[in-house]
Amino acid sequence: MSRATISVLGSTGSIGRNTLDVIRQNPRFEVYALSAHRNIELLLDQCKMFQPRYTVVTDEINAVRFAKLLESSNCKTELLRGNGSLERIASDDDVEIVMAAIVGAAGLESTLAAVAAGKRVLLANKESLVMAGKLFMDSALHSGATIIPIDSEHNAVFQCLPAKSQSPESSRLNEVEKITLTASGGPFLTRSLEQFDTITPQQACKHPNWSMGRKISVDSATMMNKGLELIEAGHLFDVNFDQLEVLIHPQSIVHSMVYYRDGSVLAQLANPDMRIPIAHGLAWPERMTLGTERLNLAEIARLEFQTPDLERFPCLRLGFDAAKMGGSAPVVLNAANEEVVAAFLEGAIRFTQIPAIIETVMSKMPCEAAASLAIIQEIDKQARSLTKRLIVKDFH
Ligand code: NAD
Ligand code: MG
Repeated sequence: MSRATISVLGSTGSIGRNTLDVIRQNPRFEVYALSAHRNIELLLDQCKMFQPRYTVVTDEINAVRFAKLLESSNCKTELLRGNGSLERIASDDDVEIVMAAIVGAAGLESTLAAVAAGKRVLLANKESLVMAGKLFMDSALHSGATIIPIDSEHNAVFQCLPAKSQSPESSRLNEVEKITLTASGGPFLTRSLEQFDTITPQQACKHPNWSMGRKISVDSATMMNKGLELIEAGHLFDVNFDQLEVLIHPQSIVHSMVYYRDGSVLAQLANPDMRIPIAHGLAWPERMTLGTERLNLAEIARLEFQTPDLERFPCLRLGFDAAKMGGSAPVVLNAANEEVVAAFLEGAIRFTQIPAIIETVMSKMPCEAAASLAIIQEIDKQARSLTKRLIVKDFH
């Protein structure tokens, strides 16, 4: 049996490492290419273990260092250099599956390249859909790419939807009344609001249920993550935003739900382990055997649900607003969020300044049509520079 070839974009991150762990358990996949930004020591270990044909290091200084490391190892992997290398490993004819697991806007072009090349795209990089959802989905329709969401909520919805709507060409979701995205509420669900000002990056990155990269961990703490996911769901499932709902579910066992017009509700349950949606995406439409801890509901005993408090989580409100506004609003939201989260992680701003600065940026930038990649990238650039100016101003 020939093995399916896969490129893992962002292989050194949390999703990338989980993906390689699933692949390691399943000999039917062959790693075609890996990419990393700075963690070249881990990348070298991964190259030695999986022997990919190509690898890409996006940070230039680290690419130079990695070339030397690779030369002195006995690994046959070829390091691709220069502009377009990431897009190449995402779209080469020899690649069947692309795991898009770069964090943030940095993953946009390579993810779009995989979509345009008609690949099976396992989509973790939600920011690419937030920024360029319409271009992305139109391109998938045109190229025949299969998009399988890896974000646990969207993967859950994908599993609960009627089979006919799982292909990108179908938008006939009229049996579906509503989609509910669940959210853990993050580490500050019960912290007193007066103490939000003193939240440290370390506290914000300590998620109660999931172990993830630092940016998405902060997004989960502010609940901006759920705002981004609402926008993501709107594009993936072709539903109106008024058919989308967010429900807090602190145990992170029910990953999302689909309400049908006859009153039935389908939910997908699993332990919070990203290898489960990754394995689903890799094996779809089949299932693979995966050695994860099995769900034990008797032990968990309680599953709780509550509506989110938008005062506690203003970033979620901003996400709802941007979703409703459409056009370039999600581009601005995402750009401002990436900049303020980076500033918070560096200790330059307080946790409570995250929503305040994003809201100011959104109010100052016009909402335009996000009609082309060039326009999206220009708006992204402008929103980032405005955000940086506000960060400096607030800081002094
Ligand atoms: P991470 O920070 O752990 O890893 C990010 C990866 O992207 C690394 O391999 C890094 O080398 C690479 N990268 C970083 N900056 C880059 C740049 N400028 N250019 C090219 N590559 C760059 O992040 P993560 O938690 O694995 O998240 C990856 C994506 O998956 C994000 O979009 C996130 O929202 C999404 N996601 C993650 C989880 C999770 O459990 N971690 C769950 C759902 C969705
Ligand atoms: Mg998620």
